[in-house]
This record gives sequence, C-alpha cells and structure tokens, in this order.
Amino acid sequence: MDIPRIFNITESAHRIHNPFTPEKLATLGAALRLEAGARVLDLGSGSGEMLCTWARDHGIVGTGIDLSQLFTEQAKRRAEELGVAGQVKFIHGDAAGYVSDKKVDVAACVGASWIAGGVTGTIALLAQSLGPAGIILIGEPFWRQLPTEAIAKGCLANDISDFLMLPALLASFRTLGYDVVEMVLADQDSWDRYEAAKWLTMRRWLEANPDDALAKEVRAQLTSEPARYAAYTREYLGWGVFALMAR
Ligand code: SAH
Repeated sequence: MDIPRIFNITESAHRIHNPFTPEKLATLGAALRLEAGARVLDLGSGSGEMLCTWARDHGIVGTGIDLSQLFTEQAKRRAEELGVAGQVKFIHGDAAGYVSDKKVDVAACVGASWIAGGVTGTIALLAQSLGPAGIILIGEPFWRQLPTEAIAKGCLANDISDFLMLPALLASFRTLGYDVVEMVLADQDSWDRYEAAKWLTMRRWLEANPDDALAKEVRAQLTSEPARYAAYTREYLGWGVFALMAR
C-alpha cells in the first residue's frame, strides 16, 4: 500500500509537500492561535512538518496519517529530531474514511483533498473528528487568473472546473455552512520551493539510478518541467490553506 512511486522519487527531499515555505507554515500556526495541548489531526500528513513544527512551537499534540511509507518514516524521524516524538504520532495508511477516536481541536487536510473525493467530501470527513468550536484546515489550489482549457491542461488539471477562482472558493466554503476564519496563501516564490526543489532531486536521482525502470519518465519530467511550470502553474495556479469553523 503506497502512493505512486514517482512521487516518492520527486519529493523525497521535500519536508513540505505543498507550495508553502517553512515561514508560511509557521505563519499559519501562529495565525491559528494554537494553545498548548491542542489536538490536531492531519490527513495526508506527508513528511510531518506541520505537526512536528507546531508541536515544537506551540505545544500541540497530534496524529498524522499518510499513504506514503517513505514520507511517514521521514515524519517519524523529524519528530525525533525536533524532540516532539512524545507529542505526535504518524500512521502509515489510507486516510480515506479516517475518523479519530477522540475529538480534535484542529482537523486538517492540506493538499490531499482527493482523499475523500474532493473539498466537500474532505470537509465532511474532517468534521466527523472535530470537537465543538474546532477548526478545519483545508489546503487547496485555486485559479489566480481564469485559464483556457489548454492552459488548465498545462497546469496538469483535467479541466477548468477542477478549481475555482479565490472569491468563488471562499464563497463555496460559506455555502457549505462554514465561516472562513483565517487563510494563508502561497505566492510564486513559495511555489518555486515546492516545484523547483523537485528538479535537483530528479537530477541527483537520475545520476544515482540510471537504469531504474522509472529513469526515462524522470528524465522526461526533468527536461520539460521547468518551462511547463513557468508557463502555466506559476502564472495561473494559486494555493492556500483555509481555516473554517462551522456556523
Ligand atoms: N500535507 C502534507 C502532504 C501534502 S502532499 C504537506 O503539506 O506536506 C499529499 C500527501 O497525501 C502525500 O504525502 C501523499 O502520500 C498523501 N496521500 C495520498 N493519498 C492518500 C491517502 N489515500 N491517504 C493518506 N495519504 C494520502
């Protein structure tokens, strides 16, 4: 049970598997006014940077679930490294349908909303783990400018309708019965940290694994990705983490 191997290759050196820098992740943690002992659930927790740094900086406790064995191992190592292994737990597994035994103060899915079939389904799943006055965190892309179908494809979306413009995305949370109580947005420089960091990882991986079954695919990606990213994703796609409280 794992994610497609290509992601474990291209993102093996990432601590944050989304277009946030460590500074933006810290800004979000501070913006939420987390109290020591607050319980956080993170579905699709990746390499655990959010839970580990918030445990260190704010004294939260939490659980992360992720389908990548590699990322989950990295998360456990990061918790040891930051001295928070007693506060955070990482589970390797499928987060689809995961509901925590104990209600949490913050239930998050940051850049993995397909886990429950999209934003609406993921919010409904997270809500099942949430205590009263709890906060849902959802990380999601949005269009910075309205694309054409061809541009949407260039952004690796199936269709324009995959994402909304920011005002429409915020309005959609309202329609679901939530107040948007905070948000922190990626910018083009923080997108670069996510996307451009893959390129050096791919290059080094290719040098170490020239005969691997995925070498051709990784080579093709490394060749085409910088220009594709600059033409499409960097210009057209925004990303943010939205904090929601039920009305
Ligand atoms: N929230 C993390 C990771 C975002 S990337 C961060 O911000 O760094 C998306 C993550 O979802 C990856 O770590 C991937 O392994 C994980 N994932 C994909 N499908 C999943 C599933 N069904 N259950 C749990 N995790 C999943």
